[in-house]
Amino acid sequence: MEAVKTREIDVTNHYIEKMAAKIAKRPVPPKAMVITHGCQMNGRDSEKLRGMLDAMGYEVAEGEIERPDLVIFNTCCVRENAENKLYGNLGRYKEKKRGNSGMKLVLCGCMMQQDIVVDKIMQSYNYVDVIFGTHNIYRFPELLHSNYVTESNIIDIWKDAAEIVEDLPSIRQFPFKASVNIMYGCDNFCTFCIVPYVRGRERSRPPEDILDEIRGQVADGVTEIMLLGQNVDSYGKGHDVNFAQLLHKVAEIEGVSRIRFTSSHPKDICDEVIFAMRDLDKVCKHLHLPFQAGSTRVLRDMNRGYTKEGFLELIGRIKTAMPKIAITTDIMVGFPGETEDDFEDTLDVVRRARFAGAFTFLYSRRQGTAAATMPGQVPADVMKAWFNRLLHEVNTITHEIALEKEGMILQVVPENIGKSGILNGRADDNSLVHFAGNADLLGIPVDVKITRARTFYLNGEIVDGHAML
Ligand code: SF4
Repeated sequence: MEAVKTREIDVTNHYIEKMAAKIAKRPVPPKAMVITHGCQMNGRDSEKLRGMLDAMGYEVAEGEIERPDLVIFNTCCVRENAENKLYGNLGRYKEKKRGNSGMKLVLCGCMMQQDIVVDKIMQSYNYVDVIFGTHNIYRFPELLHSNYVTESNIIDIWKDAAEIVEDLPSIRQFPFKASVNIMYGCDNFCTFCIVPYVRGRERSRPPEDILDEIRGQVADGVTEIMLLGQNVDSYGKGHDVNFAQLLHKVAEIEGVSRIRFTSSHPKDICDEVIFAMRDLDKVCKHLHLPFQAGSTRVLRDMNRGYTKEGFLELIGRIKTAMPKIAITTDIMVGFPGETEDDFEDTLDVVRRARFAGAFTFLYSRRQGTAAATMPGQVPADVMKAWFNRLLHEVNTITHEIALEKEGMILQVVPENIGKSGILNGRADDNSLVHFAGNADLLGIPVDVKITRARTFYLNGEIVDGHAML
C-alpha cells in the first residue's frame, strides 16, 4: 500500500511540474480562487486544492476576486439549498467565462459523487472544464493538465477511494492552526444523510502518519490542531490506537498547545474519550455532539443508535467529568413522521442539555437516502414554525450561558483583525471573543476579561500584562 501511495504522490508532483512549466511561460501568474461550501472536511480539502494551485504557479486569492483565471467550487450536497447555490453560481460564472475565454471552471466535492448531478451539469452547464469527486482530489493537477492538452471537458469520478493519499501541498487559512484528517467516510447510514454515499466507507489513517503530519505542522509554526473526521469516536479500526489514545499521543507532541476535534457521535463517544478530554489540558473543553432530534422514535427512524434518555444521561456524564465544558450540537426539525409531541421532545432536550450553541436545520430530502421515501414528509409551513420556536429556545439558552461569562478572564487566541483594530479569536471553550489589540498578537494566547456577552460572541478587554508568550 505504501508503494502505491508513493507512486500516486509522484504522479501528482509530475503533473504539478508540467503545469508549472506551462504557467511559467505566461507574462503574469494566472489568478485562481477556491469557493468552499459545506463542512470542515471540505475546508481541509480546499486547503489542499489551494496548495496544489500555488505549486502549479497560480496566484491563489484569499476570497472572491473579480477576474479569476480559474475557479474551483468545492461543493456540498448535505442540503438542497447548498446544491441550488452552486447552480446559481454556475449561471453567474457563464457570463464571466464569456468575458475571459481562457478561464477554467472546476467542480469537485460531495455533489459530484452523484451521477444525477454530473449528468445535469453536462447537459445544462457544459462550459464546466473539469469535474472530479471526493476520492481523487490528489489527481487535480493531472486532470487540469488533460483539460489544457485535449481542450475538452474532463470528468473523473471514483465510486470508492483506492487508498488514502496525503502529503499534498497545502495552504492553511491561519499560520498557527491546522486541520488534520484522521479518517474519511462514514459507516453509520443515518437515514437522512447522504455523506456515506458520497464520502464512502469509514477509513482511518495510520496514527503514525497523523502524528508525523502534526509534527511537520508544528515545525511550520502551528500550535492549534483540529482533528477531523465524520465520526472521530470510531477512529482506529484496523489500527492499534483508538481515538482516546490518539488524543494522548497528539498531546505528547511538544509545541502543540491546543487540540480540538469534530465531529463526535453520541452512540460512539465513550468514557475513555471523555476522560482523555478531562485529563489532557491541551484538549479544549468544547465538544460538538450532534443530537439531531429529541424523540426516541424519531431517533430510531433516523438510525442514530441512541435514545432521548441515553443522550441526556451522556450529557450528564460529560458535565460531571468537566463541569465547565461547552457542548454544542446539530438539531434537525421536520424529519419524516415527526409530530408535535416529537418536536416537544427536541425542545425538552434543548432545555435540559443547555447547549452553548447549536446549528439548527430544516430536514432536507436527499435523493438516495432511506428517509427520502419515508411516509409522513412534514409540510414546509409546519417545519418552518417548529424551526422558529426551536431557534428562539436555543438562542435564549445560548445567551444565558454567554451572560455567565461576563467578568470572567478567558484565554483567547486572536485569529483575525478588523479594520477598526478589533481582534477576534476563540477561547478554549470555543467562545468567539472580540477585543481591541494589534496584529502582533495574532496567534498568541492572551488573557481577556469579558465585559459584555452578546448571543453569539463576547466583548472583552486585554488584561494588564496580557500576552502569555
Ligand atoms: S454519522 Fe450520520 S449524520 Fe454523520 S456523516 Fe455519518 S451518516 Fe451522516
